[in-house]
Amino acid sequence: MEYRAVIGLEVHVQLNTNTKIFCGCSTIFGAEPNSQTCPVCLGMPGALPVLNRKVVEYAIKAGLATNCQIAPRSIFARKNYFYPDLPKGYQISQYELPICSAGHLDIQVEGTAKRIGITRIHMEEDAGKLVHADVPGVGDDSCVDLNRACTPLLEIVSEPDLRSADEAVAYLKKLHQIVVYLGISDGNMEEGSFRCDANVSVMKVGADKFGTRTETKNVNSFKFVKQAIEYEIERQIEVIEDGGKIVQETRLFDPNTGVTRSMRGKEEAHDYRYFPDPDLVPLVISNDWVEDVRLGLPELPEAKRLRYMDELGLPAYDAEVLTASRELADYFEACLEFHSQPKPVANWVMGEVTRALNEESRSITDTPVTPQLLAELLQLIDKGTISGKIAKTVFDEMWRTGKPPAQVVEEKGLVQVSDTGEIERIIDEVLAREAGQVAEYRSGKDKLFGFFVGQVMRASKGKANPAVVNELLLKKLQG
Ligand code: ADP
Ligand code: MG
Ligand code: ZN
Repeated sequence: MEYRAVIGLEVHVQLNTNTKIFCGCSTIFGAEPNSQTCPVCLGMPGALPVLNRKVVEYAIKAGLATNCQIAPRSIFARKNYFYPDLPKGYQISQYELPICSAGHLDIQVEGTAKRIGITRIHMEEDAGKLVHADVPGVGDDSCVDLNRACTPLLEIVSEPDLRSADEAVAYLKKLHQIVVYLGISDGNMEEGSFRCDANVSVMKVGADKFGTRTETKNVNSFKFVKQAIEYEIERQIEVIEDGGKIVQETRLFDPNTGVTRSMRGKEEAHDYRYFPDPDLVPLVISNDWVEDVRLGLPELPEAKRLRYMDELGLPAYDAEVLTASRELADYFEACLEFHSQPKPVANWVMGEVTRALNEESRSITDTPVTPQLLAELLQLIDKGTISGKIAKTVFDEMWRTGKPPAQVVEEKGLVQVSDTGEIERIIDEVLAREAGQVAEYRSGKDKLFGFFVGQVMRASKGKANPAVVNELLLKKLQG
């Protein structure tokens, strides 16, 4: 029997506003516990929430970038549950009337495009954090840190349109790329700024109804999402094949074992008793505001990718790689301001620059070779001052020292030799030394040509102009 998986993702994105969603406390990560709190985020009775306008702006940005409709009127709701990190006894979220709905993202999996529906995007506050620690003078204890309480989140809920772990990862990567491009989140998955709940069910091929889903909570890397979904699909198929039934439940993924296990079943599921928060008036968003935000949107990765292909004439692969992150694209475009040929610039950015960055696990924002210096290097190649091969040596030295290419070339004596007299002299030497090979070449072994080029280049320590070498060598060998 063949099965088909059905997947829908709920993604939580932590927004990078300076202050929290309903009070003026700072959101900076890693401060002394409870140092960034006030009566509102401590949940004191009678303290009143005041909505952060920036959070709304960011939500509108996310909605526009994912083709959503922006609700002219939306409502904050209380989601009631008890937990020690939630002093109010409820989380302020949105329920029936979220700020964004009915959007979509187009993903590419193995060369085919697919549209994934986005059901809704809503704003909510995060909870605090329980810290289980050895407290001096107390011993093992659990403490509450409310610095994170009330920090702004977006929850982005997809339609159950995904059909494999690979599609889910492609969707998630695309969404991640968009929120980082928009500048509304740092997207740091290790710190939990971008995390995902994976809803998974399976059904027999041809069935007319989806199967029962499980929800695996808080998976925080692309790799784990893939593992968790694949594990869950296999597990569910096995249960059904063994004559069992899938129960709707919440599960947890263990990255150490690659396995999901049950956390709570439907019976223990919370009844959140949502209701509109009487402390917050309905949120009204004017059309003008939405249009203002739309005008301020940066160029998004999809548009950038197409522009790189259409206007810059880059191959699809290059366009994809260069737009993967906004920083890389910015670097590439900054290089183009100093050197107007896109393809060689693309080659260098995707080649040497990326290699050097990876070797040192550095980010493009912290490269010692600035766009201007890289462009100067390419100009030296264009002018024939150095060969493409020598340029790589020069680049390594620039990377190490931060020196401009002209200075490196000068100091290391790397100027390309194009002087025909000088090159001729080297060729004569090589041909005299390799008389046997010359005879073979002349008796028809054409393939040896490359060997001679190599010998001449080596004798010149890589500095001979390859075009000149080829031309003169051919003349000499034929003559
Ligand atoms: P809940 O609050 O119960 O998690 P939500 O509406 O927030 O409900 O999210 C439900 C998620 O589950 C959505 O992403 C949706 O696409 C997905 N989903 C719904 N039905 C199925 C199903 N049968 N199989 C897989 N995913 C599903
Ligand atoms: Mg859910
Ligand atoms: Zn506060």
